Amino acid sequence: MAGTIALTYDDGPHPVWTPLILAALQQRGAHATFFVQARRAVEHRDLIYAMRKGGHEVAFHCLDHVRHSRRGSDGVGADLEIGLELLGQVGVRPCAWRAPWGDETQVTRELAAEWGMRLWGWNFDTHDWRGDSTARMLDSLKAQGGLRDGDVILMHDALGPGALRDGCAATVGLTEGLLQRAAAAGLTAATVSACEGVLA
Ligand SMILES: [Zn+2]
Repeated sequence: MAGTIALTYDDGPHPVWTPLILAALQQRGAHATFFVQARRAVEHRDLIYAMRKGGHEVAFHCLDHVRHSRRGSDGVGADLEIGLELLGQVGVRPCAWRAPWGDETQVTRELAAEWGMRLWGWNFDTHDWRGDSTARMLDSLKAQGGLRDGDVILMHDALGPGALRDGCAATVGLTEGLLQRAAAAGLTAATVSACEGVLA
């Protein structure tokens, strides 16, 4: 039976790593979701256009990469509002949101409802930010039983705070490895939602 997995990438776009990931996805005809940092999206708007052209979902991560539990409700609200304003400048009105470190609070949930956005976590963390090799990350996936229908896989196409690596080459390799395994298991890589609204 056919199923789907969602490859998701946080913290980009990045001018070096995002294009390599997009190329790997395109080679397999796969679609993914990019939870972007808003300032990086504006700075590298060509990559946002490339994501959309490739059928990928552009989703919101943050303006400032700060834990929601460490901010007041005004701070989280302003982060979302200004972030969406910036994404609007590159033609995107996202409907999916992943808080920094997946740290959601009641305020996060209320804002998501108010803005008609769905919050997304993950059920498989590749820990790619730690600097593990592609092989090690694929072994870890295997040890946890491999890919399953409905998996939401957390990766990073850029460096966020706390990253213990210099670049995202291992994530490019991981993307290729995951897509090979998905194909072998009859799983399709799709976006987290089909409801992305794109401004005219
Ligand atoms: Zn992040």
